[in-house]
Amino acid sequence: MFETLQERLSGVLDKLRGRGSLSEADVSEAMREVRRALLEADVALDVVRDFIARVSEQAVGATVVKSVTPGQMVVKIVHDELVNTLGADNQPVSLAAAAPVPILMVGLQGSGKTTTTAKLAKRLQDREKKKVLMASLDTRRPAAMEQLAVLGTQVGVQTLPIVTGQSAVQIAQRALQAAKLGGYDVVMLDTAGRTTVDDELMAEAVEVKKVSNPHEVLLVADALTGQDAVTTARAFDKALGITGLALTRVDGDGRGGAALSMRAVTGKPIKLIGVGEKMDALEDFDPQRIAGRILG
Ligand code: GDP
Repeated sequence: MFETLQERLSGVLDKLRGRGSLSEADVSEAMREVRRALLEADVALDVVRDFIARVSEQAVGATVVKSVTPGQMVVKIVHDELVNTLGADNQPVSLAAAAPVPILMVGLQGSGKTTTTAKLAKRLQDREKKKVLMASLDTRRPAAMEQLAVLGTQVGVQTLPIVTGQSAVQIAQRALQAAKLGGYDVVMLDTAGRTTVDDELMAEAVEVKKVSNPHEVLLVADALTGQDAVTTARAFDKALGITGLALTRVDGDGRGGAALSMRAVTGKPIKLIGVGEKMDALEDFDPQRIAGRILG
């Protein structure tokens, strides 16, 4: 297994015990270990670089208090900055708009988009007593539409009846109309995914966004994707202006570096985490927990 950051830093810093404050040389030695820890946790390289610069600035000149070791002190500075980066100004999914509130779910195929759509719908319905309608816009994969309908039945949330031959935009319009007429509070649009980011996928999602004017655009992303997470997050945010992230597979054995990369690159809050395949395995994001995991 990985050495924790605490163990690594004990090695390089604890010889400083009893000295007054951390010098630039001490900090730069410590930062080599921090860098290694972040890269092993699969945080993207440019994100690591920026993060290290911020932390170094705080650590140089910091007074070493007698009650803690220099290693513990640096770990605390790193941990606090990590929590801050991951979680500053995080807000839950917002429904503060006129009903039916449109929520657009976007992401790559296999990221867990459809599952997360159904999980979130169930949560809004069960916890917040909202009447939710879900619609799949994946016109190229009838199986994806079927999957959402099956999950809807499973969680007791209505799905828009499937009509073949309609475009994604037409389905979105039909969903909004049905939600209005049916007195729904929320309408969730599960857009089509692809295995990689491509222009056609983005163009379609942009059109859907235009006609549906969503209150939230949530990017569903796999926490285990590591370095690719940055490319994905950047592309979706640039094209669509996402309002938040839902990270899936946080129950897997990844170290969670993708969370930091995506948060740092988009500047958008992580609103939800998926922690399993079951329909109730959706939680609010807890920056402390992910920070702990990233640092090992
Ligand atoms: P989509 O192609 O993005 O719509 O992906 P799906 O929603 O079909 O999910 C793909 C697979 O990932 C399914 O087997 C899901 O059960 C699984 N999955 C989704 N979210 C999670 C999660 O948070 N944890 C785990 N372990 N599996 C998940």
